[in-house]
Amino acid sequence: MSFRELGLSSASVEAVERKGFSTPTDIQREVIPLLLSAESDIVGQSKTGSGKTAAFGLPILDSIDEPIKDVQALILTPTRELAIQVTDELRSLRGKRRIYVYSVYGGQPIGPQIRALERGVHIVVGTPGRVLDHIRRGTLNLDGVRFFVLDEADRMLDMGFQEDIEAIFRATPSDRRVLMFSATMPMDVLLLAKKYMKNPEVVIVSRDELVPGEVEQEYIEAVPHRRFDLLTKILSDESDEFYGIVFCQTKAETRELSSRLRMAGFRAEALNGDMSQPAREKTFNRFKDRKTKILVATDVAARGLDVPEITHVINYSIPMNPEQYIHRIGRTGRMGKKGKAITFIAPGELKRFRYITKQAGVEVRKSEFSEGIPREY
Ligand code: ADP
Ligand code: MG
Repeated sequence: MSFRELGLSSASVEAVERKGFSTPTDIQREVIPLLLSAESDIVGQSKTGSGKTAAFGLPILDSIDEPIKDVQALILTPTRELAIQVTDELRSLRGKRRIYVYSVYGGQPIGPQIRALERGVHIVVGTPGRVLDHIRRGTLNLDGVRFFVLDEADRMLDMGFQEDIEAIFRATPSDRRVLMFSATMPMDVLLLAKKYMKNPEVVIVSRDELVPGEVEQEYIEAVPHRRFDLLTKILSDESDEFYGIVFCQTKAETRELSSRLRMAGFRAEALNGDMSQPAREKTFNRFKDRKTKILVATDVAARGLDVPEITHVINYSIPMNPEQYIHRIGRTGRMGKKGKAITFIAPGELKRFRYITKQAGVEVRKSEFSEGIPREY
């Protein structure tokens, strides 16, 4: 199957030939025809380096109406380096066409960006913060946007861009197509897709890297004062394996639990929002370097942590809602690594927990660490 046979324009075919691409990659073979013909939104997952930029870039370039100097496609990337990289790739794929591709990102004076946008740009590539800044200043008009792309959606969510992304979503026309690409498909990405996409086509090229299936999810019913013993049992039963986060609901709870664990001989550290930024970074770095293998954290403090090798997530008490559950268990099972998530629930909470996991669309089974609930309870 050649690029021409996928239905691309001669300008695009010439451009890929000049770049030396001989055959389309798997994700390109699947995504390009879908984007050229069907009207559906797309969620695409394939490994890093598999040519996702051209998969969405070529059909978008083919659809640009050159005489109209409106922003017709908006591409969000998690970092400025990636914004530059995607911009360069699109510029090399446009060939001789007079299509303007421009990147906007933070850490750069905004003046030149405003002037470039005023002159007219067809495709804007940017980081969420700066894109939102331009929208709020009125210097980036998205009324003509037909394609809204989230590149590396998993990383953007990890970096805490969810709210910015949602605000940008709302600034785009409702009939635009939404394309979401990710190297992994953790549940927070799937939830975002569910919220903003209409029956998306899901294209998964490397099924073995799908994250939700890689996270084994279990629960343990236990009376609250039994949780500590059960936790230490889990920590020592899988001692050379355990490298993870124990989530607590309050800052005080992270302090108490981490010191209790230390007294019991475990190398645990607390991470919470009361700590200064430098102290948080130090703790986080020790965790990243595996000097501490147990992080006892609140949700806020654990936000954005990207440690691909985390083996376990423990919910020391029942999560408040499906989003919280998914954000937490999404810390493990990343980049195709296997992970385990264990949730402690108090007697009587099982029904509520079932409701939360059903809403989250996940399957959870009873842990082998479970004990009987004492009768007097
Ligand atoms: P991803 O976004 O999936 O990580 P990129 O879009 O950054 O991948 O592409 C990775 C590299 O592969 C780039 O240098 C790109 O130019 C190149 N590339 C893309 N498609 C092809 C192809 N069909 N044949 C050869 N090289 C390709
Ligand atoms: Mg990419």
